[in-house]
Amino acid sequence: MTNPNSNDLRPGNSNDPKKPKVPQIPKFNFYWIYGIILVIFIGLQLLPRDTAIRTTWFQVQSDMIMANEVKAITVVNKERAEVTLKPEALNADKYKDVKERSVLGSEKGPHYYFEIGDVKQFNDDLLAAKTEFEKRNPGQILQIPVEYVTHRNVLGEMLNWIVPLLLLLGLWILLMRRMGGGAGGGAQIFNIGKSKAQLFDKENLVKVTFKDVAGLDEAKVEIMEIVDFLKNPRKYTNLGGKIPKGALLVGPPGTGKTLLAKAVAGEAGVPFFSLSGSDFVEMFVGVGASRVRDLFRQAKEKAPCIIFIDEIDAVGRARGRNVVQGGNDERENTLNQLLTEMDGFSTDLGVIILAATNRPDILDAALLRPGRFDRQISIDKPDLAGRSEIFKVHLKPLKLNEDVNPDRLATQTAGFAGAEIANVCNEAALIAARKNKERIDMQDFQDAVDRVIGGLEKKNKIISPEEKQIIAYHESGHAIAGWFLKDVDPLVKVSIVPRGVAALGYAQYLPKDQYLYTTEQMENIMCMTLGGRVAEDIIFGRISTGAQNDLERITKMAYAMVTIYGMNNKVGNVSFYDAQNEYGFTKPYSEKTSEMIDVEVRNLIDYCYQKTKTLLIEKRDKLEELAQILLKREILFQHDLAEILGNRPFDLPKHEESPNTEVAPTLDEAKNEIA
Ligand code: ADP
Ligand code: ZN
Repeated sequence: MTNPNSNDLRPGNSNDPKKPKVPQIPKFNFYWIYGIILVIFIGLQLLPRDTAIRTTWFQVQSDMIMANEVKAITVVNKERAEVTLKPEALNADKYKDVKERSVLGSEKGPHYYFEIGDVKQFNDDLLAAKTEFEKRNPGQILQIPVEYVTHRNVLGEMLNWIVPLLLLLGLWILLMRRMGGGAGGGAQIFNIGKSKAQLFDKENLVKVTFKDVAGLDEAKVEIMEIVDFLKNPRKYTNLGGKIPKGALLVGPPGTGKTLLAKAVAGEAGVPFFSLSGSDFVEMFVGVGASRVRDLFRQAKEKAPCIIFIDEIDAVGRARGRNVVQGGNDERENTLNQLLTEMDGFSTDLGVIILAATNRPDILDAALLRPGRFDRQISIDKPDLAGRSEIFKVHLKPLKLNEDVNPDRLATQTAGFAGAEIANVCNEAALIAARKNKERIDMQDFQDAVDRVIGGLEKKNKIISPEEKQIIAYHESGHAIAGWFLKDVDPLVKVSIVPRGVAALGYAQYLPKDQYLYTTEQMENIMCMTLGGRVAEDIIFGRISTGAQNDLERITKMAYAMVTIYGMNNKVGNVSFYDAQNEYGFTKPYSEKTSEMIDVEVRNLIDYCYQKTKTLLIEKRDKLEELAQILLKREILFQHDLAEILGNRPFDLPKHEESPNTEVAPTLDEAKNEIA
């Protein structure tokens, strides 16, 4: 049984890593009483209740009745016959064990017992025995008084209903605790409506400051104001201004949203409630709303303070447009309660709500209205300079060789978010430790980057030479197509070192600073992505499953071009973009359009395939050369490619000269691995 005092949702609990572990003395607990009672019950049941020896009817009849040694028989509950012997018979040798067994007072009997199947049968048997006896001993009359009694076994009967009851109770407690969110004692049953926020206050204050948050300069400036609000609210309210109630931190995962929110609390020195949007969501109707109420009640007590709701989209998704799915009432109630609470408190109270999401587009519009999350602070993946800053933060606690250079690391980690950079630093330390190094050197970091991108290098993963050839040509196909097509992101690195479970090779690209793509650019990107499969087709005349990931991507792109970006002449300038799932399962277009879309997507992909094929056939000698070199070297960088293929016919990216203009790709884009 779990100790109810180790409720891990409250501050200062025993699971808190910051608190030294005090050896726990088992505290008094009502469960113990239940346990003790149960043990006593079972003990009583098991205790020997009498000293009678079990025997059989045959024994009784042949040994005792025929010797006329039975004084009386008692039938208990119509199922057990207890035999009491005559006192004088007990002295006989054959009843030695009866005498030995008998404790004080029990020599009176009963001395033996046996089970009877049926009372009538027993009576008949007894009568037969009597007749038999009288036949054998003429002149003697056998008299055995038979008594019928009914003993109620109170204990047993009570057990009959207590055990199921206890089982039921146990099940209920278990269920409640599950729903109450993991550990916690019986008190959890009554805590289900309590907020599950983790509180950092005076005892375990947030120690994160802006110094720990690298990069994110614009976000810091905006959020600095919030710190100022919390520190001197007067300054703003005196002028009649209203302090904002909340700010929404928008950005992809791992970019430091939680970190930033914590830093705000750390800088302002106020209590910090941290929870995730999914913490509100529960099976029971009304629980979410009651948790919201409880959260705000606690926050008001601790004001000034900060509430941080991570992944607010779990509760904040747009309400009730989707009739088909239904059953979202509970989430809607929770959201409504959140909105009500946000409206309900006045701003000079000093409670500021920060929330994080990476999908602001699916949030309910009501959440974004003034008076609620009226500020949106966008937190993007770090650029080159930002990555270098983040590396500096995370390199600080590590033992480094002199050759480790954060700026060079930053160039090699295009598209990484802060969390991934932190991960790289940690991996590098682990890799260096595995090699028993004194200090972590640049090679360890490079290995760590590769590992984070593609999983662990599998030195001994067995790949047949034929497979390796296919992989080399596949990746070379991507590289060549990318090199000679306009507007495609330049390649940084091609590798055919097998990694992880599935990735056999990958090509990493450096995306440019670009937000808008033309039709031609989209097509070229698709061609580049198809390059792998086309190369296999041209060189080997057959294709492999290695292009699955590529095909998935181009299918998505092609459908997006036709149905979202209006880039298809036949389908025209329409967009069926449905971020909020407004259409549900119904399509906003006819069957005919649907067919047209499918045909157009196919045509588009065919067109790109042919275009890539023409290009690669034209550059076939380069393709062969590159693949052969790749087979020997396994990893090629951009400058190697420039040597082999000549300079790119288009402008080289200027990312090295102007680091701030580079925009980061998602890690997935960076991976582009062949599955
Ligand atoms: P999010 O909440 O955006 O998903 P987190 O704030 O939880 O991301 O970030 C996860 C980890 O990544 C942090 O604990 C930190 O170690 C690291 N990190 C992310 N961004 C930064 C940054 N800008 N500076 C320093 N570390 C960062
Ligand atoms: Zn591929």
